[in-house]
Amino acid sequence: MNETIPVFYDARQVSQPVSFSPSAAKPRRVVERWQARWFPIDIVVPQPLTEAQLRLAHDAAYVDGVLNCRIANGFGGKDPAVAASLLWTTGSMLSAARGALASGRVAVSPTSGFHHAGHAWGRGFCTFNGLMTTVLSLVASGEVRKVAILDCDEHFGDGTEDIINTLDARHLVRHVTVGAGYSRDPDRFLDALPGIIESFLDCDLILYQAGADPHVADPLGGWLTTDQLFERDYRVFTCARRHGIPIAWNLAGGYQDPFEEVLRIHDNTMRACAAVFFGDST
Ligand SMILES: [Zn+2]
Repeated sequence: MNETIPVFYDARQVSQPVSFSPSAAKPRRVVERWQARWFPIDIVVPQPLTEAQLRLAHDAAYVDGVLNCRIANGFGGKDPAVAASLLWTTGSMLSAARGALASGRVAVSPTSGFHHAGHAWGRGFCTFNGLMTTVLSLVASGEVRKVAILDCDEHFGDGTEDIINTLDARHLVRHVTVGAGYSRDPDRFLDALPGIIESFLDCDLILYQAGADPHVADPLGGWLTTDQLFERDYRVFTCARRHGIPIAWNLAGGYQDPFEEVLRIHDNTMRACAAVFFGDST
């Protein structure tokens, strides 16, 4: 049994576009903090996605246009450094999914910027949908039959829905996006989580977006406290473990200023993960 949590990180997944969103630069910051706090993690170099794998979820002309900087990325620019990072961010998510499947437990992709990317478009700081490229890559290779996406970012995963609808892929994905008008009552939400995870029993894997932007102080969010976000993560990990469903999680949104507050929420997700899977209360 693994005694550490694999974190699929490489510096090539980091970029720094001019943007309101700090997320593209987040992988490095988060990983450095987790290492400094002695969380039981192992840094593993991810496999970058191939263009063919991107085309499993996205329109071919969109993929080609973005990667060759003719079509604007999800940040609204055509920065080659952002384009270069995209195969690595999406690759990190797929690698984490494979890591979780291999151990039957948990793995981490310190990435954001997936769920507002639709089949032929990107917006809201999202260019390619690393959730759906992961699902469709794993299905194409026969590694899974069905995957659950539990999207606990504050916002509606409209890009994910668009890809599911465009490709008629509902039988391959169980998509729960809390941003789709889900109860903003913290207690009802937390109490509903075990039932949501139970609805994933026919899935081989859970992709979990542990968004930091539902925090009460987030300028784009506003209904869960720091403790409630920890409780959210703790319940998700506890239920996934109880049912034996492998889970790969990532960071998703978080926009508080100072940025330190966002990083603290991501630390807490790792803390909950370590506590549930390794009894580690670092
Ligand atoms: Zn968000």
